[in-house]
Amino acid sequence: MAKSPKVVRTVPSLRRTLELFRKAGDRITLVPTMGALHRGHLALVREARRRSKRVVVSIFVNPAQFAPHEDFTSYPRSLASDLKALREANIDLVWAPTIETMYPDGFATRLAPEGAAKAGLEDEFRPHFFGGVTTVVAKLFTQTSPDFAVFGQKDYQQLRVITQMAKDLDLPLKVIGVPTVRETDGLALSSRNAYLSTAERSVAPMLYRVLKDCATRIKGGEKVERVLNVGRIEIDVAGFSLDYLEARHAATLAPIASPTDGPVRLLVAAKLGKTRLIDNIAV
Ligand code: AMP
Repeated sequence: MAKSPKVVRTVPSLRRTLELFRKAGDRITLVPTMGALHRGHLALVREARRRSKRVVVSIFVNPAQFAPHEDFTSYPRSLASDLKALREANIDLVWAPTIETMYPDGFATRLAPEGAAKAGLEDEFRPHFFGGVTTVVAKLFTQTSPDFAVFGQKDYQQLRVITQMAKDLDLPLKVIGVPTVRETDGLALSSRNAYLSTAERSVAPMLYRVLKDCATRIKGGEKVERVLNVGRIEIDVAGFSLDYLEARHAATLAPIASPTDGPVRLLVAAKLGKTRLIDNIAV
């Protein structure tokens, strides 16, 4: 039977445990999460298990990446069921720091990422977001010194920003991206899907349908801007409040007018009632 993962809540106990792994010559993979784990997170854990003998999952709802009007207090928290899921996934260690451990009194440092973090996508609607994410992920990286760190392509701009941060700060680890896990109707799994009403849940898969349709038409040679404009209208008509539907260069996230200019990624964000959904696919 799988045994429960060890849960550590302070930096010294985290370091002591990791030291034992390192002394045994084991490599370590970190999977950062905010908890409320679903099959998407577990796909990251499976990838982590393939990469190294030891897997550390961090669970921390990071206040620094939420604006005051966002859902920090209502964000779903479910440590007991998360630990049960992780026991079944056979991982070694859960790093679950308190807010005071991560941001003690007097904490005064915040990263200010540029490049992909200023692409005019999520940053346009959540200006504080990537500063908060890179600050906490940099802390998680220095606390655990992993060989690999696994993130979901579901948060595509975040994956690009963190990959760049690890490179820019010369962090000796490899950032791995895992494809988005979806419901059978195409909706990307997200902890925030729990906010959707029954009626909203039936409309939500539309986002992925529009992305797929746009990708097919762009591949078929139609003009990118025209395809996006039709997609934007479809999303609007379905009852979403659209933040953006964009075609970007898959590596730089720079605007791209034609597939001949490089690999294209389509990215979308839209609100359905109070719930903000994001998704993306490759063309
Ligand atoms: P979160 O707990 O939502 O901050 O997500 C933690 C990690 O899980 C991030 O790297 C996300 O990109 C990833 N993730 C979230 N949802 C999915 C999904 N549906 N498929 C794959 N990865 C995901």
